[in-house]
Amino acid sequence: MVRDLLHIETASEIGGPRILMIYTGGTLGMVYDYELKTLVPLEFSELSKSLPELMRLELSLSIVSIDPPIDSSDMQPEVWQELASIVEEYYADFDGFVVLHGTDTMAFTASALSFMCENLAKPVIFTGAQLPIGVARTDARENIITALELAADRVEGSSVLHEVCIYFNGRLLRGNRAKKYESSQFDAFQSENYPMLAEVGVYCQYNFPYLQSKPKGDFKVHKKLEKGIVIVKLFPGMDLDVYESVFQHKSVRAVILETYGSGNASTKPSFLEALAKASQKGLVLYNVSQCVGGQVRQQDYASGLGLKNIGVISGKDITTEAAVAKLMFLLGQNLDSEETKRLLEINLRGEMAN
Ligand code: ASP
Repeated sequence: MVRDLLHIETASEIGGPRILMIYTGGTLGMVYDYELKTLVPLEFSELSKSLPELMRLELSLSIVSIDPPIDSSDMQPEVWQELASIVEEYYADFDGFVVLHGTDTMAFTASALSFMCENLAKPVIFTGAQLPIGVARTDARENIITALELAADRVEGSSVLHEVCIYFNGRLLRGNRAKKYESSQFDAFQSENYPMLAEVGVYCQYNFPYLQSKPKGDFKVHKKLEKGIVIVKLFPGMDLDVYESVFQHKSVRAVILETYGSGNASTKPSFLEALAKASQKGLVLYNVSQCVGGQVRQQDYASGLGLKNIGVISGKDITTEAAVAKLMFLLGQNLDSEETKRLLEINLRGEMAN
């Protein structure tokens, strides 16, 4: 497929690391539409004009955009497939990738890309902004420039990073461990269950023991995704009967149960029976905690053990965002159900504790 790549003149045209910036939309690239009286995505060719600092970077920079750019609340697995295809297509030509993305679903997309890209030996760094690039106090400038510098960073001629990350407001996080937890302040992302990969202030301090090491196998992109996932968040007083038709729906393949604390749920027999029925029907039931920190331990309380006994799989310390992506990825591989369940419980891309 022929794509329109826009090359940006920078300080080091020859010899510097080659970075491809992929623009998907989001607040970062938004402008005010006076007719609609709301923020709408800007055309990517205008983006570099708003960021003249790009020309001072010691790297060779090209930009490509998805068409049309979107508010990330409109994100769909088809766009993840498109992003994975771009990375695959330009993998050999570039040393690193920066994805400009809305903050709302950035953690989902970063998680999806982490599963879709096997043996990734180059950085794929997502970033965005809380304020549009055209606003004087925008956080877009620092986020984009630092994400580009991190993607270009090298030791002894090879990339420092070999994974999908999110860079935001001085923090580099593992993409499939991050969550958007703040919509008003600039520090939009956190990864409660995994240390920062780097802290960027005057200097960039990498947390080396926590970085993914360079993979040995060949880079491979998996584009098949299964969309039949539902999330059921537990709350006191909920009636699982209401979900009966959802569990019976022909396109539903897996249910993420957002449970309490360390993976606990009601011990009411009718509740467990409804889940047992769903499990017997062949649905994959995945236990993910509502807590942002800590992990699911189904054996700790009788209320968790009940779930384990009916075949609910523990998501350990996985985020809901990574759980959605992991299920879509694994169910898309057409593995047998035992293998799918085995892989759900183990760490594949640094998304959960070993
Ligand atoms: N709604 C926007 C988006 O996710 C919010 C943002 O970018 O911060 O695309």
